[in-house]
Amino acid sequence: MIIMKTDATPDDVRRVSAEVEACGLRAVIIRGDYQTVIGPVGDERRLDFDKLAALPGVKEAARVEAPYKLISREYARFFGEPGAHKTVAIGDVHVGNGEPVIIAGPCAVESRQQIMRMAEAVKAAGAQVLRGGVFKPRSSVHSFQGIGAAGVHDAEEALTWLKDAGKAFDLPVVTEVRGESMVELVAKHVDLMHIGARNMYDQDLLVQVAQQGKPVLLKRHFGASIEELLSFSEYIAAEGNKDIILCERGIVPVGKGKSYTRYTLDLAAVPVIHKETYLPVIVDPSHGTGRRDLIFDMSCAAIAAGADGLMIESHYNPAEALVDGAQMVTPDELKDIIEACRTLYRTKKSLARSAAA
Ligand code: PEP
Ligand code: MN
Repeated sequence: MIIMKTDATPDDVRRVSAEVEACGLRAVIIRGDYQTVIGPVGDERRLDFDKLAALPGVKEAARVEAPYKLISREYARFFGEPGAHKTVAIGDVHVGNGEPVIIAGPCAVESRQQIMRMAEAVKAAGAQVLRGGVFKPRSSVHSFQGIGAAGVHDAEEALTWLKDAGKAFDLPVVTEVRGESMVELVAKHVDLMHIGARNMYDQDLLVQVAQQGKPVLLKRHFGASIEELLSFSEYIAAEGNKDIILCERGIVPVGKGKSYTRYTLDLAAVPVIHKETYLPVIVDPSHGTGRRDLIFDMSCAAIAAGADGLMIESHYNPAEALVDGAQMVTPDELKDIIEACRTLYRTKKSLARSAAA
């Protein structure tokens, strides 16, 4: 981080940026009201901070020892962020500005008719964003790979079904980008690009998705620490894209006995992430539990923990669903969950207000 003097000239700033770039890093210039800060992005071991500190107009040049800083609350003011909470827009829907945002829809897009029917149903239930996986990450090559997967159906047509369903019911849409080859095609058709838990560590995919200029939903890998989730979200921010929504979706259960849930939903991650970064964080109770009968309680718990939104899988006939039937709620159940969550959010807010008074 290179902090310029208040009277540094544009030439001073240019000289420092050129020095950073000559070392093979990118120089992000943040002009504040009183001061300009230059944030080098790349391998900082290549920089000689003593040399940078000695350049004209430089007040201070020092290495910031943190795996993530572009998205960190602590350094927010240096990188032009307000430092409070960032709001990320998915179309007209704003995540992180208070009211929790509900993303809902089937695990997988199964047909044009199915996603149209689900869009209508989740809209009526009160959801604001439509989800539906066109490409599914699966443990077995013999399982259904998603309607857009090679040899199943034309990928672009399947993406168009999702997009049309969203348009028909005024819902922005999100789908998972499973690999680099699909990035541009997916970006063309969705409002929010979803990087699934299995791909959280794929830095090349993260970079390519970040470059599409669309908001990104990054799900926590089931074996990842919170620090890793934040560090990998930094790859997206380093491309100049800070429209990032983080998602807690459960980590691998511990112990040898029956775990009763598909994953262990780590709800403490929500307030921890809020303290570490200004980025919004949502919770996915569907993959987090794998159980329809737990979605109501865990959705409420996520809202109580301060989540900026929820991602809930829903299907009009879960028993017939091609993927994840056991964890999908019906649209009626979804409606009850959304109503309860909104009431809970408002109650918590007024309790916090009276506690502060
Ligand atoms: C999903 O949301 O469709 C999904 C596959 O979730 P995850 O990446 O969290 O497993
Ligand atoms: Mn699923």
